[in-house]
Amino acid sequence: MKKIFTNIGVLYGVNEEKLPYWTINHKPLQHIKNAFLSVGTGFIQDYGEMRDLNLTLDKFSNVELIDCQNAIIIPGFVDSHTHLVYGIPRVEEFLLKIQGKSYEEIAASGGGILNSAEKLSALSFDTLYNMSEKNLKQALAHGTTSIEIKSGYGLSIESELKILRVIHTLKQNFKHIHIKSTFLGAHAVPKAHPNKEAYLNEVVFPLIPKIAKEGLVDYVDAFIEKNYFDTKDMIDLISLAHQHNLKTRFHVNQFHDLGAIALAVERNAVSLDHLEVLTPEDIEILAQSKTVATLLPACSFFTRLPYGPAREIIDHGGILSLATDYNPGSAPSLNMAFVMTLACIQMKLMPEEALTALTLNPAFSLGLSNKVGSIERGKEANFIVLENFNTLSDLPYFAGNQIVKRVFIRGVENI
Ligand SMILES: [Zn+2]
Repeated sequence: MKKIFTNIGVLYGVNEEKLPYWTINHKPLQHIKNAFLSVGTGFIQDYGEMRDLNLTLDKFSNVELIDCQNAIIIPGFVDSHTHLVYGIPRVEEFLLKIQGKSYEEIAASGGGILNSAEKLSALSFDTLYNMSEKNLKQALAHGTTSIEIKSGYGLSIESELKILRVIHTLKQNFKHIHIKSTFLGAHAVPKAHPNKEAYLNEVVFPLIPKIAKEGLVDYVDAFIEKNYFDTKDMIDLISLAHQHNLKTRFHVNQFHDLGAIALAVERNAVSLDHLEVLTPEDIEILAQSKTVATLLPACSFFTRLPYGPAREIIDHGGILSLATDYNPGSAPSLNMAFVMTLACIQMKLMPEEALTALTLNPAFSLGLSNKVGSIERGKEANFIVLENFNTLSDLPYFAGNQIVKRVFIRGVENI
């Protein structure tokens, strides 16, 4: 049955002019006050001002009217960078962090990614699936309605396949949302291999043709960082990914600038993520490209590291996305409203700019911007109803409050 959401205080995230992402990436999406939104068979059919909605009983006899009582509506969040299938949380490392140990110190003493991989290898498929499904349900409850999930806590053929199959099963069981799967085998070098080259040659490179053939993966990723993987490895991975019709997205410039930005942009990486350490030249290269710059403020918050230059990226005309980086070590929150607060306070984004970076631009980076990410006729009816809010600014302002309560996915309330 058709549904019409009436008396919306403000309808945000409207992409009325149907502009492509790159012309609006540093302009906010539009909004309509005193609005209605109509939904049929899971898609947005129409929207506009209440005064344009002719509420005659004849015309709407077979319609469910939902009175929003001045609540505001925003598009569902698109979280384009998560490590949601990780298994067991690392709360003990969090305590070390509180005592002042750095990410690199914790990794050097046997914590970090290798710690997660060891614990994950002992989990059965079913146990890992159940843990991951719980995480995904939490993400949905926080208003995320499309999501990317990476492997990378396996670091062996068997465990990486286990993670990718968990993601694949999530895709099958949550068909109403978009889940994109990313192979991050090159996340760290496990102890089982004498060096990086051996690990790449024995595990990462051979897995790519197999997982591409089995349809287990949409993107290839790697952690391009000192003591992890270098730009040569990145270029090799891009070539191999392209041979198998896979696109790429990379973790780059988190701690050090290894010169990855120009090389990855040149080779059409769809997204470059982290970017805490960027030169003015890198910002310009990103601004001139269609590669999305994905910043992860919750990771900066938890690691007490500098925030990426979101303001500069927007001001230069780059395509900015914001994501949770949800993972057990450096970003254990999948709350996109929290990411928005950090982006506004720490990165000095206006709420409208942050909203575009949490919805339409990440949708573009996942190849979904024609389906989700804004309020547009024909797009999937994914949105969040924020009761007792007057403006979008209330969302980052009431930080830490229980903000997201009502989430609609394809027009149906997620409960
Ligand atoms: Zn990450």
